[in-house]
Amino acid sequence: MAIAKDFGFIGRLCLDLAHTGDMGYGARFERLTTPAELGRWLQLSPLRLPRVRISLQDLKSARMLRGAIWRVVGAVVGRTNPAAGDIRLMNRMARQPGLTRELDLAARSMHWHQPAAARALATIAQDAVMLLGDPTQRKRIRRCENAGCKVVFYDDSRPGLRRWCAANRCGDRMRARLYRKRHKTKSA
Ligand SMILES: [Zn+2]
Repeated sequence: MAIAKDFGFIGRLCLDLAHTGDMGYGARFERLTTPAELGRWLQLSPLRLPRVRISLQDLKSARMLRGAIWRVVGAVVGRTNPAAGDIRLMNRMARQPGLTRELDLAARSMHWHQPAAARALATIAQDAVMLLGDPTQRKRIRRCENAGCKVVFYDDSRPGLRRWCAANRCGDRMRARLYRKRHKTKSA
């Protein structure tokens, strides 16, 4: 399956960032090509970060964090040991000050206090620490069952039986394939 052209958000912040890389499909699938693209990702992401200045260093940090998350979750679903260097990097970024919310004075809405890309990355690193370190969340890290899809997702469904990265993407595709298969065997 070809990967989507624009950013995808499938419900878990740290994994969504992990999927902005080429995911092994080749360098032309890199999504975070410029600081501006990282800024756009942060605006579109569940963080809804307002437009902030993004430096080349922020971009570099985002790519490093993303690579570490991608490799470590890959190790988890592949049942292999993650690289200690990736864990150290994640921990180092998770220790930085993250985003904090504050209320407006009418207590009707909230916004980020001093939003910045570096803070957003710390928050994302914290999300990865939580996902990997909490046994109940870790158990729900899955690789999409569509063999052509490499997406790793967090199964937040109540029964925990989700099989595809997104029902309207691989789910539909796989169901259609199964239907065709059944149909063929019936008519044969
Ligand atoms: Zn999929």
